[in-house]
Amino acid sequence: MAESLKLDICVIGAGSGGLSVAAAAAAFGVSVVLIEKGRMGGDCLNYGCVPSKALIAAAKRASVCAISGAFGVNSQPKIDFARTYHHIREVIAAVAPNDSAQRFAGLGVRVVAGVARFTDPATVLVDGDMVVQARRFVIATGSSPCIPSISGLADTPHLTNETIFDLCELPRHLVVIGGGAIGLELGQAFHRLGARVTIVETARPLAHEDAECAQIIIDALLREGVEIRTGASVQSVRQTGGGVELAVKCGDGEERIAGSHLLVAAGRSPNVEGLCLEKAGIEFTRAGILVDGSLRTTNRRVYAIGDAAAGGMMFTHVANYHAGLVVRHALFRLPVQATYDAIPRVTFTDPELAQVGMTDDRAKDQGYRIRVMRWPYCENDRAQAERMTDGHIKVVTNGHGRVLGAAIVGAHAGELIAPWALAISQGLNIRAVAETVFPYPTFAEINKRAAMMFFAPAAASQTVRRIVRWLRRG
Ligand SMILES: Cc1cc2nc3c(=O)[nH]c(=O)nc-3n(C[C@H](O)[C@H](O)[C@H](O)COP(=O)(O)OP(=O)(O)OC[C@H]3O[C@@H](n4cnc5c(N)ncnc54)[C@H](O)[C@@H]3O)c2cc1C
Repeated sequence: MAESLKLDICVIGAGSGGLSVAAAAAAFGVSVVLIEKGRMGGDCLNYGCVPSKALIAAAKRASVCAISGAFGVNSQPKIDFARTYHHIREVIAAVAPNDSAQRFAGLGVRVVAGVARFTDPATVLVDGDMVVQARRFVIATGSSPCIPSISGLADTPHLTNETIFDLCELPRHLVVIGGGAIGLELGQAFHRLGARVTIVETARPLAHEDAECAQIIIDALLREGVEIRTGASVQSVRQTGGGVELAVKCGDGEERIAGSHLLVAAGRSPNVEGLCLEKAGIEFTRAGILVDGSLRTTNRRVYAIGDAAAGGMMFTHVANYHAGLVVRHALFRLPVQATYDAIPRVTFTDPELAQVGMTDDRAKDQGYRIRVMRWPYCENDRAQAERMTDGHIKVVTNGHGRVLGAAIVGAHAGELIAPWALAISQGLNIRAVAETVFPYPTFAEINKRAAMMFFAPAAASQTVRRIVRWLRRG
């Protein structure tokens, strides 16, 4: 007979979002069950952020050798890809205990392995052998790779983010369908480790990002030798003796690209299949489960968070942010409103691209009278010392200096964006950054220099120049 559970919160999916909700609920003494059909830790730990950043870290080591001659250090990289594979596994294994069933059981969470699906608006069935009734449900089922409907693709062996980190031999020629963040990050990393890489993109790579910044990334990849076909649509795919062959339409012409391996990185689809959402009165579209500002679905006792929720951004930090809002709303009945104005996003290519808030074009479209401040990396002493002078920062404010957005392309951009996320989330004026003392010599000084540019026109005014002359005389 099926076991029956009655408790306060039932969380479906033990990825970034689900784990955060379960840990917080247990910490507040609320009874909670966490249901996971696959590996604890979800995409981020097993098939996403963690393995991709471990691979990128290995690739960075390989690329350092290529530029170290200028420092007077001469060495040739010798890639042992089997070792790289183990490095990735070791990093996952090091992080895994934080997300493990044992740790969560220790926190007081009931962890159940199995596939969850709704049978009515207040009941979930796990694998047919456990019935869960709860006051509140949180759907945190994440997303899966989109597989485009390209002729022959279904019958051709291909990799996705769920299988590429299982490779223990370096692909000879990796062809990547999709020039978004995942395609570019993985493409550059495999190329640096010695693979030939061709990326095929229908539109322009990083189409959703600031065009000027995206171009710097694309140019960097091209310079390194990554082949990129832009405005190219894949017509068909077939398996060959040596691997795969793609028929690609570029403008009026057609090209055949033969590779040893194919990676499909063509976007993500929210995981809504199999949950029987219709039985629970939960509406969804291809973009995900419909939610209101408090992340409640069309069934008031059910929330949806992370990649599964429509209208959000697909990042681990967004899933965690959602989790925090749901905990406040469901446990403490506090009013919450999900907003994305201050959510940073980073593409971990080299150079990195980090953005938060509005681009200048978007701010103009929204009717703001804007100011745009820039500062190039080449004017930063630390960047010169490290020979990492490619890139710039661009900050957008309204006419009074309230920070609306920032984009940084260059070394450590993902770290450097933090003060701008703070500025936007707290409604700060750019003066706050301009008046902060940053340590010298650090890359972070580009933030201050960009902020100071807001005051440059005033500093150049006749009156200010007269005062400065007067002070000097006095
Ligand atoms: C290659 C790659 C690199 C990435 N890099 C970054 C990065 O650098 N930074 C960043 O912020 N984000 C990154 N992301 C995105 C990030 O991984 C996701 O946004 C994040 O994992 C979403 O968390 P989640 O909780 O919504 O879903 P997930 O972490 O995917 O967890 C969902 C879980 O639900 C389980 N599940 C699904 N259906 C059921 C069911 N019916 N019953 C029980 N369990 C179920 C799944 O097995 C899974 O474990 C990357 C993604 C990829 C693919």
